[in-house]
Amino acid sequence: MKKIILLGAPGSGKGTLAERITAKYGIPQISTGDILRQNIADGTELGKKAKAYMDKGELVPDALILDLIAGRLAQPDANDGYMLDGFPRTIAQAEALGGNLAEGGSGIDFVVYLNTPKDELIKRISGRRLCSACSKSYNVNNNEFAPSSEGVCDACGGGLIQRPDDTEAVAENRIDVYNEQTLPLVEYYRNAGLLIELDGMGPVYDKVDAMSRLIEKV
Ligand code: ADP
Ligand code: ZN
Repeated sequence: MKKIILLGAPGSGKGTLAERITAKYGIPQISTGDILRQNIADGTELGKKAKAYMDKGELVPDALILDLIAGRLAQPDANDGYMLDGFPRTIAQAEALGGNLAEGGSGIDFVVYLNTPKDELIKRISGRRLCSACSKSYNVNNNEFAPSSEGVCDACGGGLIQRPDDTEAVAENRIDVYNEQTLPLVEYYRNAGLLIELDGMGPVYDKVDAMSRLIEKV
């Protein structure tokens, strides 16, 4: 049973790391951003409420997020552990998680904090492209992750699109919101003795290795 939180700014690489760890250990990645985007695509009430905040790069109100995450942690696949990607994002959310969220939140093993400088965050976010058909993620600002032909998915031939909140202006706002509302969680979890800091600039395999050692220890 492993319960892990991934903490880091937008563009710090939480999602990429979570995908690799899921592939290696089968621990489910629970991304509040992905769940919200799915709700928008499905046209749910939650999706309608969340979209306006997300398009501006603001946080979705805690009450909506806490409902969503309590429901997700109650799913059977979360019983054997999980990696939270994008939650908690405020002290109030962290306190709700620590207060159990109806059992699902108790006993976090560790918090991995990806520390990445701001100019790198903007470069990564503004270069991110997603396949409109299979959701595979690319980066036009990084040769390692660039598609082999511009605008086309290597995996399925689908067209590549930019997320509405990945434009440079919205990305700037997301980083400001992160610094104000989410960064205090670094001290919060450091004080709880749970924080493991990793250099967000290093290669992905280094971070996968570091995280693998932590997972195999608990
Ligand atoms: P990133 O980490 O790259 O900003 P996410 O996909 O995690 O991207 O989040 C996209 C948007 O979804 C956020 O800007 C915010 O509006 C909303 N969101 C996701 N998770 C939360 C959360 N825990 N609390 C509030 N809003 C959230
Ligand atoms: Zn594709």
